[in-house]
Amino acid sequence: MTQLKDLVLASANAGKIRELQAMLGGLGINIIPQQQLAIEDIEETGQSFVENAILKARNASEKSGLPAIADDSGLEVDFLNGAPGIYSARFSGEAATEQSNIDKLLELLRDVPTSDRRARYQSVIVVMRHQTDPTPLICQGSWEGHIAFARKGTEGFGYDPIFIAEDAHCHAAELDKATKNRISHRGKAIAQLLQDLG
Ligand code: IMP
Repeated sequence: MTQLKDLVLASANAGKIRELQAMLGGLGINIIPQQQLAIEDIEETGQSFVENAILKARNASEKSGLPAIADDSGLEVDFLNGAPGIYSARFSGEAATEQSNIDKLLELLRDVPTSDRRARYQSVIVVMRHQTDPTPLICQGSWEGHIAFARKGTEGFGYDPIFIAEDAHCHAAELDKATKNRISHRGKAIAQLLQDLG
């Protein structure tokens, strides 16, 4: 498992690709976004981050014949009983954009006081050595914070302009790339992965 050289990344999300390449590239692991191999996203039919990450990694491995890595992630808002959760990317519908997702969330929380705006990002990262790998590596990380009343910052992606990180005391979109990668849900999941890889 320590010999991983090429890993197909089962995502078309530019923000995720950038972060995972930055975190794994320096370790001699070559991350190949699945789009480069003309592999398309599959439908995320699972009920959990774990199931969806496995579905995506298995599909990428099956289509490429290479080991694959997938991240399934999202934002859980306590006031909304964990929504948008696994539906974070398509929170505002089929034609969802990062902007429309944020607009919808801000509207749903419009009159909710700061004390009830608690939220966290979750990331589950799965590595499959081959398409029928019966023991995929599964790593998880979360990042606590709360939802702001307005956007701030230009870094990151997704909900970062309205996610105030508890540990950083600022909006995630105000953090430089290296800092976000060190403390984020994805950063923590990758740290665990690297430990498991030995
Ligand atoms: P997935 O492709 O189904 O895993 O969708 C993940 C979605 O969760 C993204 O499209 C974002 O909306 C949200 N998300 C996950 N990680 C982050 C992050 O680090 N910053 C901002 N939004 C995130």
